[in-house]
Amino acid sequence: MSKVIIQVKDLYKSYGDFEAVKGISFDVYEGEIFGLLGPNGAGKSTTLEIIETLRKKTGGQVLVDGLNLDISPNEIKKIVGVQLQASGFYPGLNLVELINLFAGLYNEDLDPMALLEKVNLKDKAKAKFKELSGGQKQRFSIATTLINKPKIIFLDEPTTGLDPQARRNLWDLILDIRKQGTTVIITTHYMDEAEILCDRVAIIDNGKIIAIDSPSKLIDDLVETGFERPVQVKKANLEDVFINLTGYSIRED
Ligand code: ADP
Repeated sequence: MSKVIIQVKDLYKSYGDFEAVKGISFDVYEGEIFGLLGPNGAGKSTTLEIIETLRKKTGGQVLVDGLNLDISPNEIKKIVGVQLQASGFYPGLNLVELINLFAGLYNEDLDPMALLEKVNLKDKAKAKFKELSGGQKQRFSIATTLINKPKIIFLDEPTTGLDPQARRNLWDLILDIRKQGTTVIITTHYMDEAEILCDRVAIIDNGKIIAIDSPSKLIDDLVETGFERPVQVKKANLEDVFINLTGYSIRED
């Protein structure tokens, strides 16, 4: 078993009287893609932002690569990659200039073109963020998580609103980032995506983890209970039709 890179124990978060996170515990292993799933308002973003050091917890313990959040938040900041908010993408700057700006803030020396190549945006080096398509914007946002060469990146709904081709393209990018040794924590509302990408998922509801395991094990457990999906008479679905007709290649460029 690989080493535990994130350990969350009995995490609590209250906003005034409202308890958004009610004592959750989980481990994330180095090199895995770990999904946080759950309905809107379940507490996913709150949990992520606490681990990212962007929000204060009310109680519990968080260790990131052995660093205690209460003692070493600044050390943790250095090893985690967080998607920067689009509002921080100064409208007057192009992609290379934005990367240089962020690299400066992180005190990192890096080649912007090499980073853009990694996310397949070399052709857009001179473009402004607002000129990008939805998929390109998401790829750039993922690139910004990599600027400080982090051990762990956090992706909050990276494929929301994308067309099927762009979504698949992003899956490949995320798998590629993991292949290079980065641990990925992702939230998504697309269960097909979680099933394809995630080694393990935690399902959160009402501030509590109600299930945690590999997608395959969770499905097997449900089937064990006698659950049966209404019989599918067709061997394909509409998404298969769409991809079959329009192909896998992305159209935005
Ligand atoms: P999710 O990411 O699963 O949609 P969030 O972590 O964003 O859930 O929110 C969990 C709950 O906490 C929600 O009920 C939300 O309204 C509440 N909440 C989130 N941020 C704040 C805040 N800054 N102040 C008050 N309540 C908040």
